[in-house]
Amino acid sequence: MSRIVGIDLGSTNSVVAVMEGDTPVVIPTKEGSNTVPSIVAFSRRGERLVGALAKRQAATNPEGTFYGIKRLIGRKRDDELVDSVAKHAPYKIVSAPNGDAQVQAGGRVLSPQEISAAILSHLKENAEQYLGEAVKDAVITVPAYFDDPQRQATRDAGRIAGLNVLRVLNEPTAASLAYGQLGQMTVEKVIAVYDLGGGTFDISILRLAQGVFEVLATAGDTFLGGEDFDLRIIQWLAASFKQDTGVDPMADLLALQRLREAAEKAKCELSREKQTEIQLPFLATTPKGPSHLKKTLTRDTFEQLVGDLVERTRTPCEEALEMAGLDPGQIADVLLVGGQTRTPLVQQVVMEIFKRDPNRYVNPDEVVGLGAGIQAGILCGDVKEIVLLDVTPLSLGVETRDGGFIKMIERGATVPCRRSRVFTTTANNQTKVEVHVLQGEREIADANKSLARFELVGIPPSPRGTPQIEVTFDIDSNGIASVSAKDLSSGLQQQVVVTPTSGLSPEEIERGIAEAEMFAEQDRRRVAAARTRSRLEGLLQSNQKTFDEFSQLLSAEQTQEIKQAFASCRSALASEDQETIQQALDRLGEIARMMSEVALYDPNSLGVS
Ligand code: AMP
Repeated sequence: MSRIVGIDLGSTNSVVAVMEGDTPVVIPTKEGSNTVPSIVAFSRRGERLVGALAKRQAATNPEGTFYGIKRLIGRKRDDELVDSVAKHAPYKIVSAPNGDAQVQAGGRVLSPQEISAAILSHLKENAEQYLGEAVKDAVITVPAYFDDPQRQATRDAGRIAGLNVLRVLNEPTAASLAYGQLGQMTVEKVIAVYDLGGGTFDISILRLAQGVFEVLATAGDTFLGGEDFDLRIIQWLAASFKQDTGVDPMADLLALQRLREAAEKAKCELSREKQTEIQLPFLATTPKGPSHLKKTLTRDTFEQLVGDLVERTRTPCEEALEMAGLDPGQIADVLLVGGQTRTPLVQQVVMEIFKRDPNRYVNPDEVVGLGAGIQAGILCGDVKEIVLLDVTPLSLGVETRDGGFIKMIERGATVPCRRSRVFTTTANNQTKVEVHVLQGEREIADANKSLARFELVGIPPSPRGTPQIEVTFDIDSNGIASVSAKDLSSGLQQQVVVTPTSGLSPEEIERGIAEAEMFAEQDRRRVAAARTRSRLEGLLQSNQKTFDEFSQLLSAEQTQEIKQAFASCRSALASEDQETIQQALDRLGEIARMMSEVALYDPNSLGVS
């Protein structure tokens, strides 16, 4: 059986891990880093760049660089939270025909699933190189608070990347698996996982006991994360720059990208230092000429800027404690997950909520990836004796005739689970019923998220209230729902399985797969070209040296020929085309042979006896 990898597909950074014996290990990138920036860019030449390479060029290609995509996946364009991203993102967010949020890159429109697939392909390739074998199966983590369309969209992203997603695992559950692996599980205890990453916040309460990981409660905010912290600093810097110069740097994409990078750097520095200097020379051109930004940001000011964001994590924590029926004093340990938990104010608020110091032994950047690796190990059969009892984060139900919402599966139910309920007709001789599936906590259907609608047709005419329509909801261990309806009274079994109203159609997924393969091919060509180019570079240098040494022995025609060959090699070095570079390399080989023949006749040269 080939290896299964575990992937933490983060808003800011992603991690891929695998079991080595009985230990989960993070697979490093070729550059030696354990995390890959969750950034994808399309250059003006249509090339796709992923990870560190995409991050490096972000400042010069802001509208073609996509980050924070996890905030858009599985969401509608008219979602007000998507609007808030659109307001500050340098790239354009548009609506797909079915209303899903999509991004625009140059002349192309891409779904968040396709962008995420590019990151997943990159991680897959990294893993394949590291393991020396093809990787087909994966476990991918998602915030526990992700709803059904977000989970389905994440799974689709995996499919586009050529991965068979065996499990969509909740991030806090993954973190607790890794924590359990640290050997901190000898006694039964209840822990809290406080996960504040780049784009989302999750809080989960879990009971760990002899190999059983039971999620007692989960809550969160899929639109709260480090990017909001960065934005507060950006707005603070921009307001002060505007006051000084009259120019709003946020109106210029390049300046905005520079502000974004500087803000994140300052934020991270303030986790260690009490203050930091932010300098951005030539940020904008004002009527008086080029203007520079220079500001000192103290930790106190930063805490004032982001205080309300940190406070926003308090309510979900209290809700989760209440759902679990526990007091903070009953929590034995609090795990901090996600880079943003490094901010001292966050740690202080966590301490206030849970009345204890958070655990300092887990690496907040890697713990979710490692947990995904352990889950992959469980699926492979490499890790035994672990039972995961996860819960559904939001209630699922159907709309009633009067626009109300009947919950079929309550939030917090342990998954996988199945619930059925029998409904009937409201009119005489009604031959069809509509089932509108929704997810949410509100009592009015409209206020919840619509997942799907379908009709059960062909019910034999009968007085109202007679037919028995059994509606069944299933949630699998990925937290993904399917719904069916059956007409029990007629004996005729009709069953309809829901396809979601959002997400990608099978054709779109197929198109995505084909494009992902095309890009993978392009990536392979680029790697091959890079290798040949580096051989050409080395050989050009050594031949140039030989030429300098023996040029006096060469005829004028030979000199001319060699110089021409060197010139074409230099221009081939700037090419991305493997064939052009290979031709230059072949030509250089001929030149090298010619020079070695001449050198052999040099009486001063070595090699002549
Ligand atoms: P994640 O999604 O877990 O990779 O979290 C990434 C978020 O953590 C980003 O918003 C980072 O800017 C933030 N982050 C990373 N390191 C630090 C740090 N030392 N202090 C504050 N925030 C950080």
